[in-house]
Amino acid sequence: MTPDSAALDQDELFRYSRHLLLPEVGLDGQRRLKASSVLLVGAGGLGSPLGLYLAAAGIGRLGLVDFDRVDPSNLQRQIIHGTADVGRPKLDSATDRLRDLNPHVNVEPHATRLTSANALELAGQYDLIIDGSDNFPTRYLVNDTCVLLGKPYVYGSVFRFEGQASVLATSDGPCYRCLFREPPPPGLVPSCAEGGVLGVLPGLIGVIQATEAIKLLLGIGETLAGRLLLVDALTMRFRTLTLTRDPDCPVCGTREITGLIDYEQFCGITQEQTGMTQDPADITPPELAQKLARGDDFDLIDVREPREWNLARLPGARLVPLGTLSQVLDTLDREREIVVYCRSGARSAHAKGQLQAAGFQRARNLTGGILRWSDEVDPSVPKY
Ligand SMILES: [Zn+2]
Repeated sequence: MTPDSAALDQDELFRYSRHLLLPEVGLDGQRRLKASSVLLVGAGGLGSPLGLYLAAAGIGRLGLVDFDRVDPSNLQRQIIHGTADVGRPKLDSATDRLRDLNPHVNVEPHATRLTSANALELAGQYDLIIDGSDNFPTRYLVNDTCVLLGKPYVYGSVFRFEGQASVLATSDGPCYRCLFREPPPPGLVPSCAEGGVLGVLPGLIGVIQATEAIKLLLGIGETLAGRLLLVDALTMRFRTLTLTRDPDCPVCGTREITGLIDYEQFCGITQEQTGMTQDPADITPPELAQKLARGDDFDLIDVREPREWNLARLPGARLVPLGTLSQVLDTLDREREIVVYCRSGARSAHAKGQLQAAGFQRARNLTGGILRWSDEVDPSVPKY
């Protein structure tokens, strides 16, 4: 950062006048913000308030990474997008909104998924990295990238009514792997798409992340480095846990990890679970519709949660939430064909694996789950 190079014109002086009044920011601080750059991963629930407040604050360069499109179900919390944006790339919608909010900010859209192949090069162009994603592979990828580059990682996550935030990978603070050495087994921790999230919660956590980013760039106050903030929106209790660096941490401690790895594999996510490939024994929604119409003899098992079952279900299915599957194995016929399904096909791929391991050789997964069923067989089944 070279604050001297960032002069403010009359428009900017007026725009940022409430910042200039603060002794902790002032003209020097505002020029420092203009000279700084942030990479924001994800233009979704966390990315919405992050992008809006960072742009409003006058960060000089704001990089955005996203590859998704705006869906109507995003609008309950992803307030950077509007109803007219449905179907557009989130990157386009967010870029338009941010440029309108503050034309003095250089918004730099990166239409890609952050991967091991591009993360070091992308993140290397920015002062700090903020994770607005919602999955474990990206968290470990962002963490390792930040540790390897020596750049701070502003972390946040939300689920249902609970959120977390921290500042990780600072020069003397812990990293994400110091907290969570291993990712949870795939399928164990449901995503927001599966378990739901209170719409305002990513707003709350994203604003905390934006606050921490601005403090880091200004070099003021006391950040969440070395602390994990836990927010429970139902009781509105905020707790902070003290975090320490783990000397045995493979990335920031022993430094045995010297390059980026395959984070999907590290997190135990198979290609099948990401929907990239399909086991030939699996079944597509139109094939399942034919089986149902023929009256074939098989068990159809829904491994989602009861709340999801109430939103949408397939005809003739039986509800066995994934977490309870192991308890009902003895009630199932090992010789009979079983088709398992969930919302997207990811949890049911996990269920199929459990069934096959328990001797159910005729277990098949419905690829694409309810979402694809709605697209290809029956649009009256709601996508949620
Ligand atoms: Zn570490």
